[in-house]
Amino acid sequence: MIPCPLCNHQAQFFLQDKKRAFYVCPHCGLVMADPKSHLRPSIEMQRYGRAQKGAKQRQLSQFLMPLLAQINLQQSGILSGLNFGRVLDQQCLQSINEAGHSVKQYDPFFAADHSVLQTTYDFVCSYKVFEHFRHPNKEWQLLSRLVKPGGWLAISTPLMTDLRHFNKWHYKNNPTHVSFYQRQTFEYLTENSEFTLLFVSQALILMQKSSGSGIKRILI
Ligand SMILES: [Zn+2]
Repeated sequence: MIPCPLCNHQAQFFLQDKKRAFYVCPHCGLVMADPKSHLRPSIEMQRYGRAQKGAKQRQLSQFLMPLLAQINLQQSGILSGLNFGRVLDQQCLQSINEAGHSVKQYDPFFAADHSVLQTTYDFVCSYKVFEHFRHPNKEWQLLSRLVKPGGWLAISTPLMTDLRHFNKWHYKNNPTHVSFYQRQTFEYLTENSEFTLLFVSQALILMQKSSGSGIKRILI
């Protein structure tokens, strides 16, 4: 057993494939790769460099633009946002700026500007980043702090829907993917935070931070 890096309960051995062992947490549903199998940061950076290009950029843009439109339906006006963990290309940034919004970027490898983590935003989005988190609790604490009261947190990470299929899931074979989530994991996170889980699908997990009125706390 190892401590779950998200909720700190004891995670149990789940399975061993050709390269890595995996553990599952019965409390929050997180599946994690054995920390002993994590890549060295320099090798991980090389792999990220390749992933920044081409198709991934288009996917990120296709994730972000409809999201902005969706949020704008709920909150009109100019939005300030943070794109966490992956850098947008100029074309996408330009489209966002033309729509009147502003987006800052934070990427631990390619845009490690810590000053952008010192303020709060109307929305924070994170596209295919959560699966890379070695310390998901630490990252979650940071991300939740960056969202303004009433603001949105939008996450895209492939969800596991049936643990029995994990062994055959190609996504787990990428050695930079170390944390895997179920719907239960995001339910755990929102139940224990100021966020409400609004929407969960394979393409988008959307949550909203309470506006600070304290209503959610009273209900609990
Ligand atoms: Zn856990």
